[in-house]
Amino acid sequence: MAKNKAKLIIFTGPSGVGKGTILADFFKKVDNNIVYSISNTTRAPRDGEINGMHYFFISKEEFEKLIKENAFLEYANYSENYYGTSKKFVEEKLNEGKSVLLEIELQGALQVIKKCPEAVTIFIKPPSFEELEKRLRGRHSESEEAIKKRLIAAKEEINNANKFHYVIENKIVDEAVDELIKIYNKETK
Ligand code: 5GP
Repeated sequence: MAKNKAKLIIFTGPSGVGKGTILADFFKKVDNNIVYSISNTTRAPRDGEINGMHYFFISKEEFEKLIKENAFLEYANYSENYYGTSKKFVEEKLNEGKSVLLEIELQGALQVIKKCPEAVTIFIKPPSFEELEKRLRGRHSESEEAIKKRLIAAKEEINNANKFHYVIENKIVDEAVDELIKIYNKETK
């Protein structure tokens, strides 16, 4: 059997594009040679989110302490909250021969692209900006103010899609998942 190649995979796309839905299905369908990197964040958990599963929910003080300790591979201030990827987790998994998927926003993605030019980068885009706005509003998880901030960030993110190796349009979830599986297999097998 061909040996599996452990890769760092960056998965980015605007808030509301459906990254979570795609990934939930992706991880059900692929082998266990890839792991999801659980980020740290200072934002409050949404209904149903579990600490240590969706995120490590930590305080601003704890986050800033981790920044000083150089514990993050990347971090960003997004929509007035910190989000960051644990360097230790990523290094450990790659050393174990596992691929690691980072679901992160643009600023963080650009930091990782600089530090780890060998990373495979994937951007998920919505069929249109109007559709994105509809989805973001439809999930009722953010205040109007937070939605506005996310839409501003989304414009910037979509404008940078050309910096990624692969762009997947999330029009039909099943098709987007299939495309992601194909990329994963191509890059790691
Ligand atoms: P949400 O608050 O909707 O869970 O996440 C907001 C944005 O932050 C999403 O685009 C998500 O992909 C991104 N994000 C989640 N974890 C990280 C991280 O560790 N680093 C960075 N830079 N962005 C992250």
